Amino acid sequence: MKLYIVGAGPGAPDLITVRGQQLLKEADVILYADSLVSEEHFNIAKPGAEILKTAGMHLEEMVEVMKQRLQEGKKVVRLHTGDPAVYGAIMEQMTLLKEAGVEIEIVPGVSSVFAAAASAQAELTIPDLTQTVILTRAEGRTPVPEREQLAKLAEHHCTIAFFLSATLTKKVMKELVSAGWAPETPVTVVYKATWPDEKIVRTTIEKLDEDMRVNGIRKQAMILAGWALDPNIHQKDFRSKLYDKEFTHGFRRGMKQ
Ligand code: SAH
Repeated sequence: MKLYIVGAGPGAPDLITVRGQQLLKEADVILYADSLVSEEHFNIAKPGAEILKTAGMHLEEMVEVMKQRLQEGKKVVRLHTGDPAVYGAIMEQMTLLKEAGVEIEIVPGVSSVFAAAASAQAELTIPDLTQTVILTRAEGRTPVPEREQLAKLAEHHCTIAFFLSATLTKKVMKELVSAGWAPETPVTVVYKATWPDEKIVRTTIEKLDEDMRVNGIRKQAMILAGWALDPNIHQKDFRSKLYDKEFTHGFRRGMKQ
């Protein structure tokens, strides 16, 4: 018995991996939870495939459905938005399924953080500016551990990608500014990256909440913050050392070792 956990990618049906797509074609049962999984993915499912929306089910119920179908010898795919490894809540599912003797295979997907960066045509790691991206969420009803409070993460002044935070922008603004981020620090919000109704909002920390409101964005948004998102980055001198003659020389030599 084997369950396939598949990353669907950010939305556009052709942004799933070839491997993930093949599994969708072969599946007898497909379970998906998220409103961020496009139903277009199911166009390639076999006729008669069972497609189950799990939004209303609790964990044990869902695991029971999977186990039952697997015991009937069916091929079962659990489709997750983006990549299953971030905010996918797969750990509890896997624990229960493994206890029941189910093998698991995970197929990665394009996370919304990278789809959003692509839509915004941004590089999140700009040489000499920042070489780190933090993937996090603002604290709402779901707590964030004390040592990972935004004020602490902000000390790094790197790029920060906020999942699940579209309703928490006031808090994000307040905490970044009180951690010493300039109010004019660039922020790019990508609503429904790669969906037909995708929207890109380029703003700053101080205007973030207002611009989200004006654009009616209160869910399904990736918020990318930091100077790497500066719309004028091209005019600045952050040319990658990779293109620097001497560095390239040294790098090539280094490669030979
Ligand atoms: N595993 C997913 C994240 C699931 S949590 C991934 O890798 O992308 C859900 C959050 O992801 C949303 O609140 C939003 O912040 C972000 N998200 C998912 N799909 C998105 C999309 N198409 N555009 C923008 N943000 C998205």
